[in-house]
Amino acid sequence: MNNWQEIVDGVEPLDGIQLDAALMSEMQRHYAGLQGERIGKVNFYTPTFKAYATSEISGCGKSAWPAMSITGGDCKLQCDHCKAKILEPMHAVRTPEALWAAVNEHIGVGAQGMLLTGGSNYRNEVEYDAFYPVIRRIKDTFPQFKIAMHTALVDMDIARRMEDCGIDSAMMDVIGSQDTISQVYHLRRTVDDFEKTLEYLVSTQLKVVPHIVIGLHYGQLLGEWNALEMIQRHMPQAVVLVVVMPFYASENRPFVTPNSVEVGRFFMDARKALPDIPLLLGCARPPGRVKAEIDSYAVMAGLNGLAHPTDGMVELAVKLSREVRVTPACCSIAIGDEVMAIETEDAGLEVDIERVIAHERTQHHHATTGLAGIRVVTESAETVGGCCG
Ligand code: SF4
Repeated sequence: MNNWQEIVDGVEPLDGIQLDAALMSEMQRHYAGLQGERIGKVNFYTPTFKAYATSEISGCGKSAWPAMSITGGDCKLQCDHCKAKILEPMHAVRTPEALWAAVNEHIGVGAQGMLLTGGSNYRNEVEYDAFYPVIRRIKDTFPQFKIAMHTALVDMDIARRMEDCGIDSAMMDVIGSQDTISQVYHLRRTVDDFEKTLEYLVSTQLKVVPHIVIGLHYGQLLGEWNALEMIQRHMPQAVVLVVVMPFYASENRPFVTPNSVEVGRFFMDARKALPDIPLLLGCARPPGRVKAEIDSYAVMAGLNGLAHPTDGMVELAVKLSREVRVTPACCSIAIGDEVMAIETEDAGLEVDIERVIAHERTQHHHATTGLAGIRVVTESAETVGGCCG
């Protein structure tokens, strides 16, 4: 195969994006030595592929996979990187009755599943107690309706209650640094509490999909590799990587944008550590040039799914001889699609890849020649995650 630098140089939408030559050649060597069930496959998720799909998926993931919060926008923890802003756009379902009504309403307009979450108490637990019976009722009444639940920290008893109420998948953030837990999360819990949570969840029948938030320590990478080791000890069904977005943070505890080369290096290590399970890049990551760099490294490292890829990524993956599929949906359905159907080989759609690549090139052309030929780097709201709840 050609040198990857030459391949990148031939991808027109990546014009002007400076990738790290040493990391690229290291990734190329690394990738050649990888073996595992998941190596070589990549699925791209974005609503802009819709026009290019051979069959339609109805609606954006927002209506197909609504996100609901049992505490509305309230969260006791007020972590430095989020300050509960993640919860704000979600549907508030503060009582079991409200959840039941909201689910019925959403199923009526075609929802296939939901992401269920809520703000934390001071111990990083989401207090679902009152909701388990109604979740069981939802699953008994609408067995096809999938429920992905953000668990936060649990003990064995709570893990079993989550399993008993019938949820389809359990998601949690795995944090591998005590300093990050204490300083960013303001939490008196230990790294071991996070590992135990993972251990308890994977001991149930639930599909477990932990997340690693890269750059969680004020934009620096600190506990990410330890989180990876924790995951290796308690193997889940899939892992989602996201990159911290500095603009959620408050001014007095600012975050820097994570260094894309370090993020790329972590992708490579994560792929090597987990060659047999789907490894996905969720839609949360910083916008602009750094996103193009991060996405390129994600494709090169061999991640299996990218939500809202930067223009040029489908072309890059094709030129790297990957098995490419695309799904015309936003990342909430990406998570649903991959996580709920991970055993099947038919996630995503075969589309006319040539047309998608031509579309990526046109998009890029529009983005860079808007001001009388002055080159600017722009990003639509859609591609910075505006679609995701
Ligand atoms: S616990 Fe979750 S919702 Fe609450 S502030 Fe932290 S990251 Fe945001």
